[in-house]
Amino acid sequence: MTSVPGPARALPIPAPPSAGETVETYLRRLAHLNHVHVDDLKLHLGLEHTRRVETMNASTVSRLATITGRSLTELGWALPELSERHKNPALFRDDRLPACPHCVRRHRGGPILRYYPPHVHACTKHRIWIGHAYPLSSPRLGTCLDISKTPAITAAERRHRRLAGRHGAVRTRDAYLCAGQIWDHVVSLFLTNPVAETLNILSPTVVRHSTSEPAYRAAVYPKLVMITTLLLSSHWSRVAAHPDTRNEFFSEANRRIHGWSHGWISSRHPLNAWAEHLSDGRCTSSTLARFNDSQTIKVTR
Ligand SMILES: [Zn+2]
Repeated sequence: MTSVPGPARALPIPAPPSAGETVETYLRRLAHLNHVHVDDLKLHLGLEHTRRVETMNASTVSRLATITGRSLTELGWALPELSERHKNPALFRDDRLPACPHCVRRHRGGPILRYYPPHVHACTKHRIWIGHAYPLSSPRLGTCLDISKTPAITAAERRHRRLAGRHGAVRTRDAYLCAGQIWDHVVSLFLTNPVAETLNILSPTVVRHSTSEPAYRAAVYPKLVMITTLLLSSHWSRVAAHPDTRNEFFSEANRRIHGWSHGWISSRHPLNAWAEHLSDGRCTSSTLARFNDSQTIKVTR
């Protein structure tokens, strides 16, 4: 139990939070701007200074409002963790990401980690790849990637957002996760790298890439969104759901993914799981593992 040290005092520089920001980076920025140690700021709020902050009770939130002069409404809107909105899969991905540095340019005091909607992977305004999932325990800052020379990634981002608007955030997320599994399956099977040209543009000095690094994730993004579009198609969903026409779906999927058309896929192919869930209504997200396995691939030049 942490004791509360006296009345809350207003900070000389009450900087505002950024939209979707984590409480931890907001407190760190406030501390830096006001020349106090973040541990002392946490203690003043009634928080445990040795822990990274993810949640705050009503008392500590009230003290945060007092020291910043911000209303509870403003803080709650900007900081999803205060209302646990960051745990809602329809609103946010379950990982914290470095904010686009251009979007948060006016927010001073240090790096910003924030939550993004599940279908947002790039800033289309500034053409920045926002990043990818980091474990909550080990965030990495400064990994934003310039995608201004690869317009297909920005176009895919716009398409992904339209899909979420049309089909819903959760359903689109499930399809995108399945697309990641399908792509992973394809790369493993064929041992080729069909995104080598894009990788060479994004990181020209790197010869070997890991599938977990931002450049690879950005390079395959248009492919994943293309597969996601197919999985969400109402026409192809009807075709896939019926056993008599399922091979037509597999044939179309193979044509789009591999460039050739045939109606056969292996029993372990993730498309099988997707087609099965369409026919019997089983949940996809609980049966599909996350697309986060790391592999090392050789770029073909
Ligand atoms: Zn931006």
